[in-house]
Amino acid sequence: MIVANPVRAVLSDIYHGLVNLVYPAVCQGCDQPLPLVNELQLCADCEARMLPTGWGNWVDRLTHSEGLDGAYSGWFFSGPIQHFIHSLKYNDRAKLGAVLGRYLGRMLTSDLTDAFDILTAIPLFGARQRERGFNQSQWIVRGLAQALRKPADFGLLTRIRETRSQTELTSEERVVNVGDAFLASDKVRGLKIGIVDDVLTTGATASASAQALKKCGAEQVVIITCATPRIRK
Ligand SMILES: [Zn+2]
Repeated sequence: MIVANPVRAVLSDIYHGLVNLVYPAVCQGCDQPLPLVNELQLCADCEARMLPTGWGNWVDRLTHSEGLDGAYSGWFFSGPIQHFIHSLKYNDRAKLGAVLGRYLGRMLTSDLTDAFDILTAIPLFGARQRERGFNQSQWIVRGLAQALRKPADFGLLTRIRETRSQTELTSEERVVNVGDAFLASDKVRGLKIGIVDDVLTTGATASASAQALKKCGAEQVVIITCATPRIRK
Protein backbone atom coordinates (compact mmCIF):
# COMPACT_ATOMS: atom_id res chain seq x y z
CA MET A 1 0.00 0.00 0.00
CA ILE A 2 1.35 3.42 -0.94
CA VAL A 3 0.52 6.18 1.51
CA ALA A 4 1.77 9.63 0.58
CA ASN A 5 1.48 11.21 4.02
CA PRO A 6 4.10 9.73 6.46
CA VAL A 7 2.17 10.82 9.60
CA ARG A 8 -0.94 9.17 8.25
CA ALA A 9 1.10 6.07 7.45
CA VAL A 10 2.36 5.82 11.04
CA LEU A 11 -1.12 6.44 12.47
CA SER A 12 -2.52 3.84 10.11
CA ASP A 13 0.12 1.30 11.25
CA ILE A 14 -0.66 2.03 14.92
CA TYR A 15 -4.40 1.71 14.28
CA HIS A 16 -4.04 -1.58 12.42
CA GLY A 17 -1.63 -2.84 15.10
CA LEU A 18 -4.20 -2.12 17.83
CA VAL A 19 -7.05 -3.67 15.86
CA ASN A 20 -4.86 -6.71 15.29
CA LEU A 21 -4.24 -7.06 19.03
CA VAL A 22 -7.96 -7.14 19.76
CA TYR A 23 -9.05 -9.07 16.66
CA PRO A 24 -6.07 -11.06 15.36
CA ALA A 25 -6.36 -10.98 11.57
CA VAL A 26 -6.89 -14.22 9.70
CA CYS A 27 -6.62 -14.98 6.01
CA GLN A 28 -10.12 -14.96 4.47
CA GLY A 29 -9.11 -17.82 2.17
CA CYS A 30 -7.78 -20.32 4.74
CA ASP A 31 -8.30 -18.90 8.27
CA GLN A 32 -4.57 -19.02 9.05
CA PRO A 33 -3.19 -16.02 11.01
CA LEU A 34 -2.39 -13.11 8.74
CA PRO A 35 0.58 -11.17 10.14
CA LEU A 36 0.44 -8.47 7.47
CA VAL A 37 -3.09 -7.37 6.60
CA ASN A 38 -3.33 -6.57 2.90
CA GLU A 39 -6.26 -5.20 0.96
CA LEU A 40 -7.96 -8.49 0.10
CA GLN A 41 -7.03 -9.96 3.53
CA LEU A 42 -5.52 -13.05 1.93
CA CYS A 43 -2.20 -14.76 2.63
CA ALA A 44 0.31 -14.99 -0.23
CA ASP A 45 -0.60 -18.65 -0.91
CA CYS A 46 -4.32 -17.91 -1.20
CA GLU A 47 -3.76 -14.77 -3.25
CA ALA A 48 -1.70 -16.81 -5.73
CA ARG A 49 -4.59 -19.28 -6.03
CA MET A 50 -7.14 -16.58 -6.95
CA LEU A 51 -7.79 -16.94 -10.69
CA PRO A 52 -9.11 -13.75 -12.39
CA THR A 53 -11.42 -14.44 -15.33
CA GLY A 54 -10.37 -11.32 -17.23
CA TRP A 55 -14.04 -10.24 -17.27
CA GLY A 56 -15.26 -12.15 -20.31
CA ASN A 57 -19.00 -11.95 -20.97
CA TRP A 58 -20.35 -15.40 -20.05
CA VAL A 59 -23.99 -14.73 -20.96
CA ASP A 60 -24.03 -17.07 -23.98
CA ARG A 61 -22.59 -19.88 -21.88
CA LEU A 62 -25.21 -19.73 -19.14
CA THR A 63 -27.84 -22.44 -19.00
CA HIS A 64 -30.43 -19.74 -18.22
CA SER A 65 -29.89 -16.26 -19.64
CA GLU A 66 -33.35 -14.92 -20.55
CA GLY A 67 -33.52 -11.23 -19.66
CA LEU A 68 -29.76 -10.90 -19.22
CA ASP A 69 -27.61 -8.77 -21.54
CA GLY A 70 -24.31 -9.65 -19.88
CA ALA A 71 -22.85 -11.95 -17.21
CA TYR A 72 -19.51 -11.18 -15.60
CA SER A 73 -17.48 -12.70 -12.78
CA GLY A 74 -14.24 -11.51 -11.17
CA TRP A 75 -12.63 -14.86 -10.41
CA PHE A 76 -13.01 -18.50 -11.34
CA PHE A 77 -14.21 -20.53 -8.39
CA SER A 78 -11.21 -21.82 -6.42
CA GLY A 79 -10.54 -22.82 -2.81
CA PRO A 80 -9.73 -19.37 -1.37
CA ILE A 81 -12.64 -17.50 -3.00
CA GLN A 82 -15.02 -20.34 -2.05
CA HIS A 83 -13.90 -20.05 1.57
CA PHE A 84 -14.14 -16.23 1.48
CA ILE A 85 -17.68 -16.29 0.03
CA HIS A 86 -18.80 -19.04 2.41
CA SER A 87 -17.76 -16.97 5.40
CA LEU A 88 -19.74 -13.95 4.10
CA LYS A 89 -22.89 -16.05 4.19
CA TYR A 90 -22.70 -17.89 7.41
CA ASN A 91 -21.08 -15.71 10.03
CA ASP A 92 -20.39 -12.17 11.11
CA ARG A 93 -17.88 -11.55 8.34
CA ALA A 94 -20.56 -10.32 5.94
CA LYS A 95 -19.12 -6.79 5.96
CA LEU A 96 -15.98 -8.17 4.32
CA GLY A 97 -18.14 -8.40 1.22
CA ALA A 98 -17.35 -4.69 0.83
CA VAL A 99 -13.64 -5.58 0.62
CA LEU A 100 -14.37 -7.96 -2.27
CA GLY A 101 -16.68 -5.40 -3.87
CA ARG A 102 -14.12 -2.58 -3.78
CA TYR A 103 -11.45 -4.85 -5.24
CA LEU A 104 -13.81 -6.04 -7.98
CA GLY A 105 -14.72 -2.44 -8.76
CA ARG A 106 -11.12 -1.59 -9.51
CA MET A 107 -10.71 -4.71 -11.67
CA LEU A 108 -13.68 -3.82 -13.90
CA THR A 109 -12.94 -2.58 -17.38
CA SER A 110 -14.49 0.69 -18.60
CA ASP A 111 -16.67 -0.94 -21.30
CA LEU A 112 -18.22 -3.03 -18.54
CA THR A 113 -18.87 -0.09 -16.22
CA ASP A 114 -20.73 1.59 -19.11
CA ALA A 115 -23.11 -1.41 -19.13
CA PHE A 116 -24.96 -0.19 -16.01
CA ASP A 117 -26.10 3.09 -14.41
CA ILE A 118 -27.08 1.69 -11.04
CA LEU A 119 -26.32 -1.37 -8.91
CA THR A 120 -28.58 -3.61 -6.88
CA ALA A 121 -28.27 -6.95 -5.08
CA ILE A 122 -30.14 -10.21 -5.59
CA PRO A 123 -32.57 -9.89 -2.68
CA LEU A 124 -33.28 -12.47 0.01
CA PHE A 125 -36.85 -13.20 1.04
CA GLY A 126 -37.91 -10.67 3.73
CA ALA A 127 -38.26 -13.22 6.55
CA ARG A 128 -34.95 -14.85 5.64
CA GLN A 129 -33.13 -11.50 5.68
CA ARG A 130 -34.69 -10.52 9.03
CA GLU A 131 -33.66 -13.85 10.51
CA ARG A 132 -30.12 -13.62 9.15
CA GLY A 133 -29.85 -9.89 9.80
CA PHE A 134 -28.06 -9.08 6.56
CA ASN A 135 -27.76 -9.85 2.86
CA GLN A 136 -24.13 -10.55 2.00
CA SER A 137 -24.59 -9.42 -1.61
CA GLN A 138 -25.58 -5.93 -0.41
CA TRP A 139 -22.13 -5.60 1.18
CA ILE A 140 -20.50 -6.56 -2.12
CA VAL A 141 -22.65 -3.89 -3.82
CA ARG A 142 -21.60 -1.24 -1.29
CA GLY A 143 -17.91 -1.87 -2.00
CA LEU A 144 -18.47 -2.01 -5.75
CA ALA A 145 -20.55 1.20 -5.77
CA GLN A 146 -17.91 3.01 -3.71
CA ALA A 147 -15.06 1.97 -6.03
CA LEU A 148 -17.01 2.88 -9.19
CA ARG A 149 -18.76 5.98 -7.78
CA LYS A 150 -22.06 4.59 -9.02
CA PRO A 151 -25.36 4.68 -7.13
CA ALA A 152 -26.88 1.58 -5.52
CA ASP A 153 -30.53 0.99 -4.68
CA PHE A 154 -31.68 -2.10 -2.80
CA GLY A 155 -35.33 -1.26 -3.43
CA LEU A 156 -35.26 -2.07 -7.15
CA LEU A 157 -35.95 -5.78 -6.63
CA THR A 158 -37.95 -7.71 -4.01
CA ARG A 159 -38.11 -11.46 -3.48
CA ILE A 160 -41.81 -12.12 -3.06
CA ARG A 161 -41.66 -15.71 -1.91
CA GLU A 162 -39.36 -18.11 -0.13
CA THR A 163 -37.25 -20.29 -2.43
CA ARG A 164 -35.13 -23.36 -1.69
CA SER A 165 -31.35 -23.13 -1.80
CA GLN A 166 -30.32 -23.63 -5.44
CA THR A 167 -27.18 -25.61 -4.61
CA GLU A 168 -28.92 -29.01 -4.30
CA LEU A 169 -31.15 -28.60 -7.38
CA THR A 170 -30.75 -29.60 -11.01
CA SER A 171 -30.67 -26.94 -13.71
CA GLU A 172 -34.38 -27.46 -14.56
CA GLU A 173 -35.42 -27.46 -10.90
CA ARG A 174 -33.57 -24.17 -10.38
CA VAL A 175 -35.70 -22.36 -12.97
CA VAL A 176 -38.95 -23.60 -11.41
CA ASN A 177 -37.65 -22.76 -7.92
CA VAL A 178 -36.95 -19.08 -8.70
CA GLY A 179 -39.62 -18.52 -11.39
CA ASP A 180 -41.76 -15.47 -10.52
CA ALA A 181 -39.92 -15.14 -7.20
CA PHE A 182 -38.92 -11.53 -7.91
CA LEU A 183 -40.80 -8.30 -8.33
CA ALA A 184 -39.20 -5.09 -9.65
CA SER A 185 -39.97 -1.48 -8.83
CA ASP A 186 -41.29 0.96 -11.45
CA LYS A 187 -38.18 3.06 -10.70
CA VAL A 188 -36.20 0.79 -13.07
CA ARG A 189 -37.89 2.09 -16.23
CA GLY A 190 -35.27 3.13 -18.80
CA LEU A 191 -32.32 2.26 -16.53
CA LYS A 192 -29.32 0.05 -17.19
CA ILE A 193 -29.00 -2.16 -14.14
CA GLY A 194 -26.12 -4.17 -12.69
CA ILE A 195 -27.38 -6.91 -10.39
CA VAL A 196 -24.82 -8.34 -8.01
CA ASP A 197 -24.53 -11.77 -6.44
CA ASP A 198 -21.69 -13.75 -4.90
CA VAL A 199 -21.55 -16.72 -7.29
CA LEU A 200 -22.73 -17.26 -10.87
CA THR A 201 -23.56 -20.87 -11.78
CA THR A 202 -26.42 -21.74 -14.16
CA GLY A 203 -27.79 -18.17 -14.25
CA ALA A 204 -31.30 -19.24 -13.09
CA THR A 205 -31.58 -16.73 -10.23
CA ALA A 206 -29.97 -13.88 -12.20
CA SER A 207 -32.24 -14.58 -15.17
CA ALA A 208 -35.39 -14.60 -13.00
CA SER A 209 -34.32 -11.25 -11.49
CA ALA A 210 -33.49 -9.80 -14.90
CA GLN A 211 -36.87 -10.82 -16.32
CA ALA A 212 -38.65 -9.06 -13.43
CA LEU A 213 -36.59 -5.89 -14.09
CA LYS A 214 -37.26 -6.01 -17.84
CA LYS A 215 -41.01 -6.45 -17.21
CA CYS A 216 -40.90 -3.11 -15.40
CA GLY A 217 -39.07 -1.43 -18.27
CA ALA A 218 -35.37 -1.78 -17.45
CA GLU A 219 -33.39 -1.03 -20.60
CA GLN A 220 -30.48 -3.36 -19.95
CA VAL A 221 -29.57 -5.84 -17.21
CA VAL A 222 -26.20 -7.42 -16.48
CA ILE A 223 -25.19 -9.72 -13.64
CA ILE A 224 -21.87 -9.18 -11.86
CA THR A 225 -20.58 -11.77 -9.41
CA CYS A 226 -17.40 -12.36 -7.43
CA ALA A 227 -16.86 -15.88 -8.71
CA THR A 228 -17.99 -18.49 -11.19
CA PRO A 229 -17.15 -22.19 -11.53
CA ARG A 230 -15.31 -22.72 -14.81
CA ILE A 231 -18.16 -22.68 -17.29
CA ARG A 232 -18.05 -25.41 -19.91
CA LYS A 233 -20.48 -25.65 -22.76
ZN1 LIG B 1 -4.71 -18.05 3.13
